[in-house]
Amino acid sequence: MAERLSMSLPNISEADVAVVAGVLRSRRLALGPYLDAFEESVAEYVGVEHAVAVSSGTAALHLILVALGIGPGDEVIVPSFTFVATANAVLFTGAKVVFADIEPVYMTIDADDAMQKVTASTRAIIAVDAFGHPAELDRLEVLCVERGITLIDDSCEALGAAIGGRRVGSFGSASAFAFYPNKQLTVGEGGMILTDDPKLASALRSLRNQGRSTMAAWLVHERLGYNYRLDEMSAALGWSQMQRIETLLSERDAVAAMYNEQLPVIGGLTLQRIRPSVRMSWFVYVVLLPPAWNRDDLMVHLDSVGIPSRAYFRPVHQQPYAQALALGQCDLPVTNEIASRTIALPFHGAMTGEDVHRVCDALGAFGQGT
Ligand SMILES: *Cc1c(COP(=O)(O)O)cnc(C)c1O
Repeated sequence: MAERLSMSLPNISEADVAVVAGVLRSRRLALGPYLDAFEESVAEYVGVEHAVAVSSGTAALHLILVALGIGPGDEVIVPSFTFVATANAVLFTGAKVVFADIEPVYMTIDADDAMQKVTASTRAIIAVDAFGHPAELDRLEVLCVERGITLIDDSCEALGAAIGGRRVGSFGSASAFAFYPNKQLTVGEGGMILTDDPKLASALRSLRNQGRSTMAAWLVHERLGYNYRLDEMSAALGWSQMQRIETLLSERDAVAAMYNEQLPVIGGLTLQRIRPSVRMSWFVYVVLLPPAWNRDDLMVHLDSVGIPSRAYFRPVHQQPYAQALALGQCDLPVTNEIASRTIALPFHGAMTGEDVHRVCDALGAFGQGT
């Protein structure tokens, strides 16, 4: 039988290897020149003033909320149709998570539902650029200003995506990116916060580094901080990958285009739709199955022919731990319906036409038996 396909695969070049090896030889393994260079490269690419690298995307989200002073008594609105880290970052602060539904076409947070959930205690909305498709950030930005609340963008899945030529990461008060190995750009484990607010940026720099104010006063801690620093090997890998970011993204575009071309033949599948004027940055390749298809059976079938898949996202309010945290009770009809039918197929920039063909064939064979 053909070799098992990978669900995702990082793109690592010989140049990446050489840069990381260079850091190891230098013996400067933390807070070195690549940390600044990586931050500068992402800030410039996205078009914001400040970038603060941290140890994960989750840390990025958590630190944004801490720096904004969000805590017990506050409410933060997030979609439930997301990776758990979006909601968890809120829970870490002691603030209350309020779930908003998603809109059915692009599967990002429903701005109207989010606005309806605003109360006197609401401090912020965290929009999520799900699967690499930007949330309605342009509209949310206006609505949040009107209501006096902060917009945060969980852009962990969307480096390079844009609305009307303006890149995600530049909307709202602050944005979070993640660089886990399945993301468009990877450093191993890492994340980054982008903001145009200099005071927020300096608070974030202190908070990620044990509450220190400057490097000069290494043993002076001005606030309760964290160790959320990004190490120098990771920063070097991130910097090296940023040198070819458009190539990384266009390889993924090409694989998504192959899927988009072959899947309609099967019939009944709903492919990812893209809002007008949006540039999607493909993170995962998700399709919506026809209601008559049994997703579990499909996943078993795909697995039997060496094709991994994921029921992605399983919404946060449906997670086993949500009940214990009283997050389970909520009325999210669109999320429940969409989440019961989405499936993520193998996806990365090195997939060949033959790989994509194999996945499409297996889906077609299953569809014929349904
Ligand atoms: C990947 C991801 C994160 C955070 O990722 P880390 O694994 O902590 O780096 C946060 N939100 C979303 C939507 C993600 O996909």
